[in-house]
Amino acid sequence: MKLNLPPTVAIARRVYFSVGRHAPLQSWPPRLRLPHGYDCVLTAYYEGAVAAHNGMVANISDIKPALALAVAPLDCAMLTGADTVLPNPPSGENIVEFLWQRLPAHIEGGRLDRLVLELSPRLRVEKTPTSMRITRKYEFAAAHRLCSPELTDDENLALYGKCANLAGHGHNYGLEVTVEGAPGAAGFIMAPDRLDEIVEAEVFTRFDHKHLNEDCPEFENLIPTSENFARVIFAVLREKLTGDGHRLAKIGLHETQKNYFEVEG
Ligand SMILES: [Zn+2]
Repeated sequence: MKLNLPPTVAIARRVYFSVGRHAPLQSWPPRLRLPHGYDCVLTAYYEGAVAAHNGMVANISDIKPALALAVAPLDCAMLTGADTVLPNPPSGENIVEFLWQRLPAHIEGGRLDRLVLELSPRLRVEKTPTSMRITRKYEFAAAHRLCSPELTDDENLALYGKCANLAGHGHNYGLEVTVEGAPGAAGFIMAPDRLDEIVEAEVFTRFDHKHLNEDCPEFENLIPTSENFARVIFAVLREKLTGDGHRLAKIGLHETQKNYFEVEG
C-alpha cells in the first residue's frame, strides 16, 4: 500500500531528577526564601526526518545518556550558594536554559526541538529554539446553565441536553495559563507569585463559586459554554499579562477530566 507519509517525526525521552534551592535574590517571592526542593521531570523532544534505512529519526536510546549527562550536575544538588553549577538564579527558566545548552543540538537526524521541565504538577517551563514559556495550573468552581435566549426551554433541552437544566449545574474547572517571554534578571519570565495574583484578581474574583449566568456581567449577552468561557478568561488575562517582556500565550480550560478547551493568542 502506498501512503503519503509525513517526512518528520518528533521523538521524546524523559528523565527524572531532583534539585534544591532557596531564594538567591531579595526580588524573589518571600515564600521561596527557605530551602525547598523539586522532583523534576524533563522531557526532551528531537524532531527530524525518518531515515529510510532504519525507520528512525535517531535511536531513542542514544538520547538517554545525553539526558543523564545533562542533568547530572543538577541532580540532588543545591542550586543556590557558592558551589552552585548554575551561572544564573535557579529559576525553572534558567534550569531549562542550562539544560538546553548542555544537550546536543542534534542527535543523528533529530534536532533539539523542545524541552519541557515540570517542576511540580502545577508549574511547567517549556523552551523551543524561538520561545520560552511558563505554565501554571489552577482549579476553581463555577455553575452555569447552557441556554440560548432565542430558544424555548424545550428547544434548549434538545440542543444542550442536561447542560440546559433550569437550575443550572456546576464544574470544577482546571485552568492552565501559559505566559511567553524572556527571563529577566531574577530569572523569571514572570514571577509565579505575580501570575498567581493576577489570576486570583482577574479569574477567581470574577468567577470562582459564581453562577456564570446569574452573577457575571461578562455573560450577560454570551452563552456560557466552555468555548465562550475560555475566550472570556483569555481576554481578561490578556489585559493584565501584556508587557514587561512577556505576554499571555495560551489558556487551557478543563471543563471536566474529558473536555478541554484552548485559546492561543
Ligand atoms: Zn456545564
